[in-house]
Amino acid sequence: MDIEKLKKILEDRGEPKYRFSQIYKAVFFDLIFDFSQMTNLSKELREILSKEITPFSLKIKTIQKGKEVDKDLFELEDGNCIETVLMKHNYDRKTVCISSQVGCPLGCKFCATGKMGFIRNLDSQEIVDQVLFFAKEEKDKKLNVVFMGMGEPLLNYDNVLQAIRVLNDKNGFNLSIRSISISTAGIIPGIKKLMNENLQLNLAISLNSPNEKQRTEIMPVNQQYSLKELMAVAKEYVKKTNKKLFFEYVLLDGINDDLESSKQLIKLLDKEPLFHINLIRYNNTSTQFRSSSIKTIEKFKKELEKNNINVTLRYSFGKEIKAACGQLSTTSNCFNVD
Ligand code: SF4
Repeated sequence: MDIEKLKKILEDRGEPKYRFSQIYKAVFFDLIFDFSQMTNLSKELREILSKEITPFSLKIKTIQKGKEVDKDLFELEDGNCIETVLMKHNYDRKTVCISSQVGCPLGCKFCATGKMGFIRNLDSQEIVDQVLFFAKEEKDKKLNVVFMGMGEPLLNYDNVLQAIRVLNDKNGFNLSIRSISISTAGIIPGIKKLMNENLQLNLAISLNSPNEKQRTEIMPVNQQYSLKELMAVAKEYVKKTNKKLFFEYVLLDGINDDLESSKQLIKLLDKEPLFHINLIRYNNTSTQFRSSSIKTIEKFKKELEKNNINVTLRYSFGKEIKAACGQLSTTSNCFNVD
């Protein structure tokens, strides 16, 4: 919710100092999104707050339930829509995959969100509320949060960082910073800024190709931030943070899944021990690309392993409800795109 506005209303009314903490805790710790239920406040204050402040900004349009995944379509106050996904395959900790923008300006060729174009950035409340919603639904605040839904988080840097601070606040939601991951298509100024924040969150770079020409074809952002510059900043990042840096590599049939590509990738990673490759099987969307076969993926993975590259094959969940990587998309009239 709008924390500054809340503070001002309480101050103008001459409410005691503890009132703010009371309300803040009710929303972010107890997950109460309705002031009328905060019975420790006076009736008058509850009515004023209900009129002035929106403690939860998302309207639930649809909930689709898959085998191990839920996908929710939320309507924002201006009528735009976003999708958020809850992954339940890891029963120790569920993972919420959240959106940071309505649409995305980067237009990666394999991604359904990219096809929507860019509509607007989400504000920090709209980002936070996606997490609060699932925490309340699942009665579980120990979640992993990944910025891998719709949008490029590092192009909405301030709101994303503000949302992370709110989620991480010990006096509120208290989500461990280590449970938060940001995935970027390679926005170099954002990566540089992030490495100076001294935050223990996880960073992943969506790589998808080991050479400039091919990467520009499938990820136009490579024209602006080349692979060469990106790998230089990736090295700087691990040196500065001493943290593992993940690279996502979506395998596309006949494009980036052959022996030559694996050799180029090995060379690109330059034996940096803190680099880790996550191989992802492509989920068919209505693009020209197809998933690589399991046999090809295994072969690609073995080649990396043989060369001492840290590599994990990530399984995709939620294909049956178009909730898997690269499949999120909404229309302007707020429907899921099938
Ligand atoms: S993959 Fe990510 S960065 Fe690329 S278009 Fe899709 S949402 Fe945007």
